[in-house]
Amino acid sequence: MTVMTEMREMTHSFSGLQRKEMLQNMSEKTFDLIVIGGGITGAGIALDAQSRGLRTALIDMQDFAAGTSSRSTKLVHGGLRYLKQLDVKVVAEVGKERAIVYENGPHVTTPEWMLLPFYKGGTFGKLSTSLGLRVYDFLAGVKRAERRKMFRPQETLGHEPLLKKKDLRGGGYYVEYRTDDARLTIEVMKKAVELGAQAVNYAKVEELLMKNGKLVGVRVADQLGGNGEKSSYSLYASKIVNAAGPWVDTLREMDHSKKGKTLHLTKGVHLVFDQSKFPLRQAIYFDTPDGRMVFAIPRDGKTYVGTTDTNYKGDIVNPRITVADRAYVLRAANEMFPTLGLTEADVESSWTGLRPLIHQEGKDPSEISRRDEIFVSDSGLISMAGGKLTGYRKMAETVVDKIAAMLVAEGLVSATALSPSRTRTLPISGGEVGGSAKLESFLQSKISQGQRLGLTSAEAALLARRYGSNVDAVFALVAQYWNEAECRKMPAAVLASLVYAIECEMAVKPADFFIRRTGALFFDIAWARQWKAPAIAFMAERFGWNEAQQAAYTAELEQLLHEAVNPLEA
Ligand SMILES: Cc1cc2nc3c(=O)[nH]c(=O)nc-3n(C[C@H](O)[C@H](O)[C@H](O)COP(=O)(O)OP(=O)(O)OC[C@H]3O[C@@H](n4cnc5c(N)ncnc54)[C@H](O)[C@@H]3O)c2cc1C
Repeated sequence: MTVMTEMREMTHSFSGLQRKEMLQNMSEKTFDLIVIGGGITGAGIALDAQSRGLRTALIDMQDFAAGTSSRSTKLVHGGLRYLKQLDVKVVAEVGKERAIVYENGPHVTTPEWMLLPFYKGGTFGKLSTSLGLRVYDFLAGVKRAERRKMFRPQETLGHEPLLKKKDLRGGGYYVEYRTDDARLTIEVMKKAVELGAQAVNYAKVEELLMKNGKLVGVRVADQLGGNGEKSSYSLYASKIVNAAGPWVDTLREMDHSKKGKTLHLTKGVHLVFDQSKFPLRQAIYFDTPDGRMVFAIPRDGKTYVGTTDTNYKGDIVNPRITVADRAYVLRAANEMFPTLGLTEADVESSWTGLRPLIHQEGKDPSEISRRDEIFVSDSGLISMAGGKLTGYRKMAETVVDKIAAMLVAEGLVSATALSPSRTRTLPISGGEVGGSAKLESFLQSKISQGQRLGLTSAEAALLARRYGSNVDAVFALVAQYWNEAECRKMPAAVLASLVYAIECEMAVKPADFFIRRTGALFFDIAWARQWKAPAIAFMAERFGWNEAQQAAYTAELEQLLHEAVNPLEA
């Protein structure tokens, strides 16, 4: 049995090479549940539903996580900012959830001490920071070792010498969890697929199929068609969930149920700097000159800063950073870290996301609640809106509880066939490292194993951290593709990651690999530039692209590389 056959058997199929067959196969069955949208909300729902025993299908019109779920601040957090809005329920819920998210996928979440400096006349004073963080520890059920500490000005500067010194009164120190939002989404999806869910990207729901006024399915258009192949499929299910993030209302328009509460989109941008320009040691949560709060976070030799929060009405698929957004973040960073003198030329990359919030009359973008809600339309479309990356598991549990109850009440599924939600203790794909406490020893042993294969310690560490317990499959590919990588003048670690992305994570375009599967376009744009040509050449051969297709995918990646560093004027 070849390595790939073994892997396919292990995970069911999540291969980009079998996308078309999977779409065909999905249209020949009736599912218990169809999930529209493969961001973190949809992935979480698919995992919860499939793991209870519901036959589940998921489709996304773009790549998985290509919407908001690859464009966040990348924190699985207790939501300290919501304390400021007195949204106690959100703080308590997401605070507890982050511990679960961490435990189930310690390879994609990392505890990160956050420093909140306070200044004379700033948003938080000494007392409010101390009290706020204590309430936060309590509400979020923070473990003892991670409870807040308070620093005097000197200690605060000791932790981060780049901070503005004038009027500094001290700092609060507390733990947040850093993640890779897109990889978290992919790992959740992979687990759902491993348990039997069927998921396909680049498949757009263009029509809701009705029978006697009730929703029975969706008509899906393959966005990668071409060559005269079949491109339209009808998928059927007992229940259909709309987890389309910023597009939730677009789907609700299809069954005319967009009334009452609607979405309010706000835009947030982040800028990335090299550590040589912004040598931040310590993650900081700080005041902006206009009284908001933003993060500056060191990560993999870079520092990223964000976010903005402005009302948004433009193109949802490709929101762009503007010159004004960039100026806002630069000003905030230069104000707090005055010795840096950061300029536009120092911005190495950026990303822009849209928050799918639920509209609240008369509230400014930053004041709108991040709570999630479920709407069920007359035709039966179940829409889930609002919410956070952090709360994805709980949101999924809530909506699937509701769906399971409906299915049982309607006699469509037997109550005994369904188990209650299992996701609280279910590791996501790659998360089987023996729990967060064993992560370090797991990584050490995998680094040694990778070195024995001929990888450098840095390469082995990167692969072990990124893929967690799936790294064995990637190491097998390193061995299998070692000679081919040499011929292609690529490091074996890069080629193995690409093959794994294609065959086990349904990457089908260069942008899928360089953005959602590796995060390189944001955090190592030089790496993306360096390996894009051989990676595209390999993909073209694997997928059998013609010249026009190869040129189109290359141009798409080039455009995204360009947009990351070239904001719009308006
Ligand atoms: C700037 C910013 C910072 C944030 N920071 C954080 C943070 O640090 N921590 C945190 O917990 N949360 C954060 N959030 C919130 C979090 O990112 C979002 O709540 C979450 O990613 C939303 O996920 P989603 O799956 O609902 O939406 P999305 O990720 O947008 O997924 C929806 C999917 O639906 C698909 N879709 C739409 N229409 C169709 C159709 N017709 N057919 C098929 N598919 C369709 C889209 O292609 C898309 O992939 C942040 C958000 C933003 C914008």
